[in-house]
Amino acid sequence: PTYTKDDIRRVAKEENVKFLRLMFTDLYGTIKNVEVPISQLDKLLDNKLMFDGSSIDGFVRIEESDMWLYPDLSTWMIFPWGNEHGKIARVICEVYNADRTPFLGDPRNNLIRVLDEMKELGFTDFNIGPEPEFFLFKLDPETGKPTTHLNDQGSYFDLAPMDLGENCRRDIVLELEKLGFDVEASHHEVAPGQHEVDFKYADALTACDNIQTFKLVVKTVARKHGLHATFMPKPLERINGSGMHLNMSLFTKDGSAFFDENGEQQLSDTAYHFLAGLLKHARNFTALTNPTVNSYKRLVPGYEAPVYVAWSGRNRSPMVRVPIARGASTRLELRSVDPSANPYLAIAAVLAAGLDGLKNKLEPSKPVDRNIYSMTEEERAAVGIVDLPSTLHNALKALRTDEVIKDAMGSHLYSNFMEGKRLEWEAYRLEVSQWERDQYLEMY
Ligand code: ADP
Ligand code: MG
Ligand code: MG
Ligand code: MG
Ligand code: MG
Repeated sequence: PTYTKDDIRRVAKEENVKFLRLMFTDLYGTIKNVEVPISQLDKLLDNKLMFDGSSIDGFVRIEESDMWLYPDLSTWMIFPWGNEHGKIARVICEVYNADRTPFLGDPRNNLIRVLDEMKELGFTDFNIGPEPEFFLFKLDPETGKPTTHLNDQGSYFDLAPMDLGENCRRDIVLELEKLGFDVEASHHEVAPGQHEVDFKYADALTACDNIQTFKLVVKTVARKHGLHATFMPKPLERINGSGMHLNMSLFTKDGSAFFDENGEQQLSDTAYHFLAGLLKHARNFTALTNPTVNSYKRLVPGYEAPVYVAWSGRNRSPMVRVPIARGASTRLELRSVDPSANPYLAIAAVLAAGLDGLKNKLEPSKPVDRNIYSMTEEERAAVGIVDLPSTLHNALKALRTDEVIKDAMGSHLYSNFMEGKRLEWEAYRLEVSQWERDQYLEMY
């Protein structure tokens, strides 16, 4: 929604807002917030609030640490869970340097920059419909810490009217609706304890903001139910991991640029070129769509997650699916993404990949309508199907080769990301797992 400064001053008073949470997202996708009392509202609205950016991951060095927070008024939202002392409102902010230029280490600013490039090509919106999945685990009643005990494993035999997870999910949907989310569906996922809530697509920037708000709401509500919600991609072995499929489409002022009544399968040339760009850069943007060591435990055969770079209009298993809906719902669904991704970074990369396909009029490979998992390596090679990276290390190596994706990150984010992720991989390499001991201790 569009709010003026006066709207916000008025609503804050009417609703007895006492605290303001100024939010932004760091390099790793974590929401950061600076909380200030309502007395600071005028300063905020006039872009006169500063904060110290030096302690934020991937932000700045100590000597240049003072930064401005510019509120994006359209993101103003009053949380429904205030108390008798008053309510808390949040607003998402753009981070600006001390010299009042946009700070390019802010992933949200970076997405705005890539979206501007899209607009120069004649598009108005990059629409994104995310499908975030998550697990609900029990909190330890003694310590309050998360466990890995699922809350609804026994529910199949349970005669209790509602399981814990279902109650909690319903509450999540209610809170989201209070915050203005257009929830399209929510359901229990394939794995025990796993859930999905789908909300209506929005332009990329709003969709990213929504994803961040969504995670906050899910975690907050879960806690009230004695549960821990996690967006970790693969918390339990031998059970499906959590993905965050991204449905996407480009719009012009005339509507969908992916739909063409007379096109092959009613898809436009634009859709095919965009798809080709996604396929071309897929290996190289995987470090952004799947940025953790754990992400690659999800991208394995047998658990509904994609493993190969391929697309299909029929099959549900490949990396890119073209759902059958047409008209305004014509879209590409990228199924590799997981919810540990920083949405601003991942979506900037995916958009840049698609736009590269458009600018260079790339043509996609043939759709793969058979089960890729039953094909041999030779059969896959013969039709040009390559693997997604199998580890974070390989994904980082692939990213290093791709100028299009590096440009979509900008040099500040790129170098900080590479350095942070290199350290993460190095730390992981130092560990020896129980699986290895079980496998080798007696064998050798
Ligand atoms: P699935 O069949 O993969 O489970 P869902 O029904 O769970 O898909 O989610 C579909 C998502 O796609 C929703 O978020 C929906 O709003 C979104 N969507 C619909 N049309 C478009 C479009 N034109 N562009 C982007 N996303 C879209
Ligand atoms: Mg779904
Ligand atoms: Mg569905
Ligand atoms: Mg799902
Ligand atoms: Mg899906």
